[in-house]
Amino acid sequence: MRQRIVGLTGGIASGKSTVSRMLGELGSVIIDADVAARHVVAPGSDGLARIVEEFGKDVLLADGTLNRKLLGRIIFGDHEARRRLDSITHPLIYRHMAQELDRAIKAGASVIILDIPLLFETGLFLDTIDESVVVYVRPEVQLERLMARDGLREEEARQRIRAQLPLEEKARRAEHVIDNSGSLEETRRQVVRLWQKWSAEHETGLDRP
Ligand code: ADP
Repeated sequence: MRQRIVGLTGGIASGKSTVSRMLGELGSVIIDADVAARHVVAPGSDGLARIVEEFGKDVLLADGTLNRKLLGRIIFGDHEARRRLDSITHPLIYRHMAQELDRAIKAGASVIILDIPLLFETGLFLDTIDESVVVYVRPEVQLERLMARDGLREEEARQRIRAQLPLEEKARRAEHVIDNSGSLEETRRQVVRLWQKWSAEHETGLDRP
């Protein structure tokens, strides 16, 4: 039976983690790019050594872990520094996730979710996935939830939203859109509907090429 590889993405505070959790509870295998991104710069990793080589020892905290806040400030607004950081981390993240994907495929998972915040921006795994799901939220709800979750002032929150590809644009590019502007129950209903469609196709083999 053919296995389904899905790219899941969204915008900041659109509810991607919430939907990812729901899909996990329904039985998909979740491969999380944020987890991979932390793994490849863990203490003792090649990734961390290369970041120190590139940006200096100052980017380490006293306990030897990466000072993400400082690194974030260094690359904020500095296109060239961001590019250098991405050129170190992206191939490592890709390789780590590809290994996990391989494991999930061999284990026979029917639905494998690649949870990637910057799926369309980075292009990572775009040629691997069968389809994409975008978690959408109306702009005013996104702003409100972001301010509440991260304790940000309105202008800071707007700035972070503006730094990303517009959510409308992502929704246009996706095969499936989950609208998370309403209650968690309404979102869960949409997620279950999508899951049922996948399950039906998996059982009947309709998705086979
Ligand atoms: P993302 O992973 O896309 O950044 P989250 O899943 O963390 O977004 O959701 C952003 C915030 O909004 C979180 O605090 C979450 O608890 C809350 N949230 C998500 N979906 C809903 C919803 N349907 N109703 C109310 N709050 C929600």
